[in-house]
Amino acid sequence: MPPPLCTDLSAGQVHFLPGPKDQPKKSSDPLVSGWADLSVSAVVEDGEIGPSLDRDMLRMLWGRPLQLFRLAGFMARQRGAGWVTYVVNRNINFTDICVGSCSFCAFRKDVGYRLSDSDILSRVEEAEDLGATEVCLQGGLNPDLSLEDYCRMLELIKEGHPAMHLHAYSPMEVWHMARSSGVSVKEAIADLKSAGLGSMPGTAAEILVDRVRQEICPGKLSVSEWCSVIRTAHKLGIRTTSTMLYGHIESLEDRLTHLEVLLRLQAETGGFTEFVLLPFLPENCSLGPMARKPDILEHLKMHALSRVALHNYIPNIQASWVKLGPEVAGAAIEWGVNDMGGTLMEENISRSAGSTSGQYLSPSQIRAIIAAHGRKPAQRDTLYRVIKTS
Ligand code: SF4
Repeated sequence: MPPPLCTDLSAGQVHFLPGPKDQPKKSSDPLVSGWADLSVSAVVEDGEIGPSLDRDMLRMLWGRPLQLFRLAGFMARQRGAGWVTYVVNRNINFTDICVGSCSFCAFRKDVGYRLSDSDILSRVEEAEDLGATEVCLQGGLNPDLSLEDYCRMLELIKEGHPAMHLHAYSPMEVWHMARSSGVSVKEAIADLKSAGLGSMPGTAAEILVDRVRQEICPGKLSVSEWCSVIRTAHKLGIRTTSTMLYGHIESLEDRLTHLEVLLRLQAETGGFTEFVLLPFLPENCSLGPMARKPDILEHLKMHALSRVALHNYIPNIQASWVKLGPEVAGAAIEWGVNDMGGTLMEENISRSAGSTSGQYLSPSQIRAIIAAHGRKPAQRDTLYRVIKTS
């Protein structure tokens, strides 16, 4: 029987917004009972009804890790019925040349590489041979690349690999290509979709608080610009992930604000497939010395808190094994995480920033991690449709 946590979009359903039926049932655990449905409340603001985080409750849980873990674990088990998913994919970082100046980035170069068409195709072929259903294309803001070049990359892959799902280009890259080609973001995304774009990574979100963005990535999209690109993609039927880069100079309040921005966008569009927590890696970048560097307990608490905050709106919470390491990512399964992300095969961005977790976990390695935590592994596609459970 397929895992019930996955959204079945095969009938053409694009939007997904879990309703009240998805509320977890009450638990008999006294540490959990009474908390499970308190994280989000409807508020009236500027004449509109939208979700709002119960910050007092989330702050209280942050100070009571035992209660937080048990609640998050309960919610994830309720939602996923014991299944934990993963996707077989490959990252392709097609260029590291970038005009950006993000202080947390160890990847960008002024003089760097740009993969040729044959380099890209050979990576896709290798991925397909290993059973990948997705390639994820992301790169620096290369001033020599136009919208046409980005579309051509997608068409090139689709020509030879029509079944491959193309998960490509962050909101910042989309903004960059629209600006460099003199078209609107809407036109750019429509062109990318015609060229074969399947979905977009919700990266470049970092922390969705303008004050923090001014400190760590002043050249990047503002919060409202990031939301506008995401909203436009969702309205054009391009779903995205959502992410948060945490563990640098931001406060807990900033993280809660970030989660609330995502919550409200999801209530509006229903286009987020998942939420991925990306711990900041402090090596080889100027932000590193200023970062607080969370310990393992804080990583686990942040994943659990995200489960509690987003559960009824973004039910898929992913741990990044390449940044946390497979052991910590596996432990997060116990406390709110229901997705282990992808096999990756190539991950230059985290590796440049000091990740030592390797660039590839085979499907059997991911399945073993999931099974070691008493959950049932299920391979999914990018849009959370189940591919296989054995
Ligand atoms: S994070 Fe992206 S946009 Fe920022 S400097 Fe690095 S490659 Fe460029």
